[in-house]
Amino acid sequence: AKQQGRSGYTFFSNDMREQAENRMKLLKDLRIAQQHQQFCLYYQPIVNLNTLNIEKAEALIRWQHPQKGLVSPDVFIPLAEETQLIHKIGEFIFASACQTLDKVRKNGENLQLSINVSPVQFTSKHCYLNQWHTHLEQHNLAPHDIVIEITEGLMMNAQPRTQKRLNNLTAQGFSLALDDFGTGYSSLAYLKQMDTDYIKIDKRFVDGIADNKDDLALCEAMIMMAHQLGLQVIAEGIETQAQHQLLQQAGCDFGQGYYYAKPMPEESLLALLSND
Ligand code: C2E
Ligand code: CA
Ligand code: CA
Ligand code: CA
Repeated sequence: AKQQGRSGYTFFSNDMREQAENRMKLLKDLRIAQQHQQFCLYYQPIVNLNTLNIEKAEALIRWQHPQKGLVSPDVFIPLAEETQLIHKIGEFIFASACQTLDKVRKNGENLQLSINVSPVQFTSKHCYLNQWHTHLEQHNLAPHDIVIEITEGLMMNAQPRTQKRLNNLTAQGFSLALDDFGTGYSSLAYLKQMDTDYIKIDKRFVDGIADNKDDLALCEAMIMMAHQLGLQVIAEGIETQAQHQLLQQAGCDFGQGYYYAKPMPEESLLALLSND
């Protein structure tokens, strides 16, 4: 810990200044990263719990920082959202996911690719939609090949036009998954307002299911409710066989987590699919 100054205030303001400086430095690096293509996508398989086949994969962005090594998206995505850099990064994500899916197809395999989309991306005046369609067409893909993952917590502060644009995308055939389901304040309202195809049960609920009856009951209730509404369920953060079996027994449709596979580079995904 740092030496405290004469007053608590001094200590606090030094700390704040340091934080602000770190933020500025990171933001500068993030701009450079965007220009010099220091990002890449990793892919985490999503397994059909009835057949155990890999039917989908989630694209997860990675930043290879020249000095710091891998920087977590939890750190830089919020910064990208605040500074509008998310628009360019978002286009990179969509373009490279399409490129990967094209390679998967050319290997004679198929997948639906899930990409994380920040609601901030829909606030731009730029026509992200034209971009998306250009990338799809370039690789002979259709909207249905893509699942848009939206975090309900982020929808909460979204502008009204965000939801309109999302509805527009689902009307065109993009699938929609509500990410981190159950952790926000209005999960149920969003289910009604949007053409949702999947809910993703958050890892926080999955963690305890083998040891805690309440966690298991919550997962079972979410699965039943989703099915009654005609939605499918993806459980996240499955790390053990016990969790896998309990979710399978509860009728969960898809599983994702270290138990099956960690996020991996494109080459490893292609290799895994051709050995599967
Ligand atoms: P998320 O969308 O909830 O993604 C799931 C996170 O859980 C990923 O972390 C994944 O690596 C991790 N995970 C998956 N299975 C397990 C498991 O069994 N155990 C544990 N401990 N962790 C597991 P990651 O890749 O660090 O991403 C963190 C968050 O950053 C994501 O949470 C998402 O909100 C955001 N993010 C990642 N990639 C993108 C992106 O391309 N665009 C946007 N807008 N956000 C992204
Ligand atoms: Ca996600
Ligand atoms: Ca739909
Ligand atoms: Ca999640």
